[in-house]
Amino acid sequence: TREFHLVARPQGEPAPTDFALVERTLPDPEPGELLIRNLVISVDPYMRGKMSGVRTYTDPYELNAPMDGGAVGVVEASADPDVPVGTTVLHNAGWRSHAVVPAAHTRPVNTREPLGPSVYLGALGMPGQTAYVGLLHKAEMRRDDTVFVSGAAGAVGGVVGQLARLHGARRVVGSAGSPEKVAYLLDELGFDAAFDYRAGPVRKQLAEAAPEGIDVYFDNVGGEHLEAAIACANDFARFAVCGAISGYNATEPPYAPRNLFQIVTKRLTLRGFIVGDDPQLTGDFYRDVAPAVAEGRIRVRETVVEGLENAPEAFVSMLRGGNVGKMVVRVSH
Ligand code: NDP
Repeated sequence: TREFHLVARPQGEPAPTDFALVERTLPDPEPGELLIRNLVISVDPYMRGKMSGVRTYTDPYELNAPMDGGAVGVVEASADPDVPVGTTVLHNAGWRSHAVVPAAHTRPVNTREPLGPSVYLGALGMPGQTAYVGLLHKAEMRRDDTVFVSGAAGAVGGVVGQLARLHGARRVVGSAGSPEKVAYLLDELGFDAAFDYRAGPVRKQLAEAAPEGIDVYFDNVGGEHLEAAIACANDFARFAVCGAISGYNATEPPYAPRNLFQIVTKRLTLRGFIVGDDPQLTGDFYRDVAPAVAEGRIRVRETVVEGLENAPEAFVSMLRGGNVGKMVVRVSH
């Protein structure tokens, strides 16, 4: 296998020298194990936290050891009678070309889907489930709510906005980091309003995009976006606090909302959440979202980087906003 190791803890934005591509021979699978050839691997924002060496809600990556992360691959050798060779599986031994993994840590995926295997890393995977759980179960979005989502052109945000529309939002508002992304939100994903947060103050642009205020905020970004959402929130608004990517590469404490007292005066609810805390919702998520994706009611876009060796660049590009929809790395065909 060829596998990426983290060899230095990034300071600020990760550098190519923080990673090393290491070649090693894998053992044959023991009983209950599978040899998997990866087709696509995922690069996700949470991995930046794991590179820092501080325990957040998951353990950090160890230095000079293979990194892990979401991946979809094909079983090339099986020592589990229930998983035949040729099965396509979702698993967590990403950042590498091949892996030997206990079959119990894998899940077969449906390859008859009109979309490729990478959809299980995006809209029908962890990011899609994050959107579903956060919007419907944490922010408890209701019909006629005005919903604002930041990071709206990304893997999670794009599903949030489309789910909000499908669930009868009065108005769906998104922010993203370029005019092209704003056009994508309006023209392809059916947002009612969208703005480029780099083009002016977030608070001013949000107030214009949601003149009657917001009832739900799905926060992927934190910082100035969170302050703006608090400022534009209606009384009793609910916030699903999902991520704070504006601060992930920060070397100084990031910008903080200065208007937290409005949480009191407006009786706001802010709920932080981690998607993995609610495994019991996985069945509901597939039941509701898989047909919507298959039928095109939820549109899926991906940015595909070719070649395992380019995974670190793909990761950094994603942190910079180089992706529309889910960023994935194709490892083999
Ligand atoms: P995305 O596909 O949205 O990719 C990251 C995006 O973040 C970039 O495309 C970029 O878009 C945007 N971004 C980068 N820097 C900034 C900045 N300074 N200000 C505003 N936007 C910025 O990633 P995901 O959909 O996978 O993740 C989105 C968020 O959800 C992250 O915060 C992540 O940590 C969180 N998350 C949380 C989970 C949970 O369980 N709580 C699970 C999964 C994800 P742009 O061009 O618009 O700047």
